[in-house]
Amino acid sequence: MKGEFRSESVEREGSPPSAELAGRVVRAVEEALKLPHPAPADEALLRDVEGLDSLLEEIAALREFSLAMARGELDYGAGHRGVVIGALKGLQANLRHLTWQAQRIASGDLDVRVNFLGQFSEAFNSMTDQLKGTLREKDRLAARYKDLSDHDPLTGLYNRSAFQEEAARLLTDELFRERSSALIMSDIDHFKRINDSFGHQCGDEVLRRVSGLYRAGLRQEDIVCRYGGEEFLILAPGISAGVARGIAQRLGDAVREMRIVWEGSPVAVTASFGVCALPPLGQDGFTLRFLREHVQIADLNLYRAKHGGRDQVVGGDCDDADAGAECCGPEN
Ligand code: GH3
Ligand code: MG
Ligand code: MG
Repeated sequence: MKGEFRSESVEREGSPPSAELAGRVVRAVEEALKLPHPAPADEALLRDVEGLDSLLEEIAALREFSLAMARGELDYGAGHRGVVIGALKGLQANLRHLTWQAQRIASGDLDVRVNFLGQFSEAFNSMTDQLKGTLREKDRLAARYKDLSDHDPLTGLYNRSAFQEEAARLLTDELFRERSSALIMSDIDHFKRINDSFGHQCGDEVLRRVSGLYRAGLRQEDIVCRYGGEEFLILAPGISAGVARGIAQRLGDAVREMRIVWEGSPVAVTASFGVCALPPLGQDGFTLRFLREHVQIADLNLYRAKHGGRDQVVGGDCDDADAGAECCGPEN
């Protein structure tokens, strides 16, 4: 392989040996500098000619060295080995630095800028820029999908699974974990009648308006979800069932007073409510069972409100947070 490479691309046929070439150039320069005889000694000119001489020798030596390197003869010219090793060391240091930068990028630091070998660093930096853009887009889409999967499209409220997630987050938060909280279950009265009398679009509008009233009538930290068709579940953290009862009564008043006119006719809407106290979690972890058991009690109280004539609140009469289920249970 080495032999083929030399004959084809390095030592072209007929190229004069470099020493001979150097000699010819020196002689040509001497010829050009020939002075009238006898010439006065010009020290400066002599120095220049000597300097040119050694420069040409250097060029010739470098040419030989380059040809040897191109042939792969890395042992050629002991004097030049130091230069090659120095250059290789520099390259090695740069590569080490580049590896370190790549490792930082791999660990997620996409603000790393590479400054190494011109075009290479341009390509490398635009690669990290593209990666950054792709990740930004991925995060945007993930947030969008999470939003879509967490919310009911008709009302914009949380759906059941998002409610469970949020409830777990709130009840274990150090702000609320040592305090009692409350659940409020609400259901629109005779909603089927509204659909039957005014049509489903009117029913949808009633659902949107009631959702808006609930959201507006609650605190920022309260969470509300569309639990089913015309059923809503509210978690009010850090308050007693008694306070929650007052909130449910205000929401009931707001629904009753809401003015909806559909195709020229007023639509009367009322809702019923069931309240249940949630004891503080303390050091216990949140479980779906814990939530489900208390939702069941709120639901039973809602059932009692329906049977009591609708448009009313049941539960939350007892303010003893520790009593929890017993206080708000159906046996009360
Ligand atoms: P009650 O006072 O006992 O709660 O009676 P109700 O008529 O409200 O309850 P029922 O369970 O008999 O009827 C609920 C109706 O809600 C039946 C269903 O068609 C309707 N519904 C459920 N989801 C939607 C919805 O997204 N849009 C509309 N327009 N109607 C819905
Ligand atoms: Mg109903
Ligand atoms: Mg219902």
